[in-house]
Amino acid sequence: MQNKVWDDCLTILKSDLTESQFNTWIKPLSVIEDEEAQSLTLLAPNKFVVNWVQKNYLEKIKAVASKKLDGKATVAISIGDEPYSNSIPPNKKDRVVTPVGSPLNNRYVFDNFVGGKSNQLARAAALQITENPGTSYNPFFIYGGVGLGKTHLMQAIGAASFASGCSVEYSASETFTNEFINAIRTGTTDDFRHHYRSADVLLIDDVQFMVGKEQTQEGFFHTFNELYTAGKQIVLTSDRPPSELGMLQERLVSRFSGGLVVDIQSPDLETRIAILDDKAEQQGFTLPYEVCEFIAKRNKKNIRELEGCLNKLRAYSIMTGSPITLDYAVEILGSLIGNRAIGDVTSDDIIGTVASCCQVSVPEILSRVRTKTVVEARQIVMYLLINELFMSPTDIGRALGGRNHATIIHGAGKISAAISEDDSLRALVMHAKEAIFTSAAA
Ligand code: ADP
Ligand code: MG
Repeated sequence: MQNKVWDDCLTILKSDLTESQFNTWIKPLSVIEDEEAQSLTLLAPNKFVVNWVQKNYLEKIKAVASKKLDGKATVAISIGDEPYSNSIPPNKKDRVVTPVGSPLNNRYVFDNFVGGKSNQLARAAALQITENPGTSYNPFFIYGGVGLGKTHLMQAIGAASFASGCSVEYSASETFTNEFINAIRTGTTDDFRHHYRSADVLLIDDVQFMVGKEQTQEGFFHTFNELYTAGKQIVLTSDRPPSELGMLQERLVSRFSGGLVVDIQSPDLETRIAILDDKAEQQGFTLPYEVCEFIAKRNKKNIRELEGCLNKLRAYSIMTGSPITLDYAVEILGSLIGNRAIGDVTSDDIIGTVASCCQVSVPEILSRVRTKTVVEARQIVMYLLINELFMSPTDIGRALGGRNHATIIHGAGKISAAISEDDSLRALVMHAKEAIFTSAAA
C-alpha cells in the first residue's frame, strides 16, 4: 500500500529530527492512511511512544498532512500491533550483512570520524587496514571506555572495506551469542558457521559480553580460526584490553592479543569541540563557537553524551523556536535541578544512583534477575536514560548488559505510564533524578 501523505511527513520529520530521535519515536510507527477521509491513523508499539509523539510531533504531522491533502487532515495515534512496516526484524537488529540498505550505521564512516590525539593510533591503523584487509594487522583489537568511538571506527572499517568490494559481517557480541545459542538449539550450527565464514571482514563489537559464555567462546574460536587462516580481516572491540578479559578462554585471549591492540582515550577539549562542530554540521546547523566550547567544557569523558547535549539543545530550540545562543545553552543544559549539568551525567551515574535509591546493586540491575524490585529499578534506569540523556534504546540496551531495544522501550514505557498513577513510584523517580543532578559534579 502506498502512503503518500505519510511519506511526506517522514521526509519532513527526518530533516527536522536527529537520527536518534527519528529512530526512537517515528520509525516504530506504522500508519493507516485514508486519503478519502483525509485521515491518518498512526499505530505505536506502546503508550510511551503514543504520549511522546502526541506531545512533540503530532502538530507538525497534522500540518504537513493538511497541506498535502489540501484541507484539514485528521491525525490520530493509538497503540497498535500492526507489524513494524519499515523496520528491521528484532532478531536482525544488530546484525548487518552489507548488501544494499545495510544497517551498518551510515554515519559511522571515516569522513565523520574526527581525528585527535586520543584516537590517533587507532584511526591510523584502521585506515591502513582498510587499504589491505587481512594483511596489515590481524586481528585488530580496539578497546576503550564507553562512548569513545569504538563502534564508529569499527564500522568505518566495515563501510570502507565494503565499498572496495569485500563482504562484511558486523555483529554485536550479544547478537553473536544469541544467534549461536539459537543455532545450537535448532541444530543449525552449520548454517551459522557458514554464514560467518563467508565474510572477508568480520567485525565483532563489545567482545567483553562473551565473558563467561563458554559455548559461545568455543563457537567463536572456531570461526575466528577459520577466517584467520584464510587471511580474512577480523576486528574486535572491547571496553578493556584482552589481558583484562578475565574468564575468557585463555586461547581466545591469546588470539585477540596476536595482532594489533590499540586503545581509544578520552578526547581533549580541542577534539571535543571539533567533534561537536562536525556533528552540528552533519545535522545541518551551525553551532556558535562559544556554545560549542561551553558544551565541550562541561562534558569531558564521553562523546555519546556530548552528542546527547547537542541533541537536547537542538530539540528544545526547535520546540520553542529559540535560536541557539550561549544563554540559551546555559538555560537548557546548565541549570537543571541542582548544581550539576546534564552534560556531566553519565549512564553509569544514573545506574548507580537508581541502584542506591531502590536499594539494589548495580550488578543486579545489569543482570537477568527478575525480582520485582530489581525489575522496577532497571526500568527506572531505562526511563531516565531515554528522558534525561536522550540515549537511543539500542545504546541503552548495551549499557544495561545487552538487552534488545524493544525491551528498553517497553521498560521505559511502563515507568512512564505508571508514574502518573502511582504516587510512590513518582516520588521515587523524582528522588532519583534529584540525586543524579545534585550529586557532586566530577
Ligand atoms: P563506543 O562504541 O566506544 O561506546 P561509539 O562508537 O558508539 O562509542 O561512539 C559514540 C558516539 O560518539 C557516536 O555517535 C560516534 O559517532 C561519536 N564519536 C565517537 N568518536 C568520534 C570521533 N572521533 N569523531 C566523531 N564522532 C565520534
Ligand atoms: Mg560501541
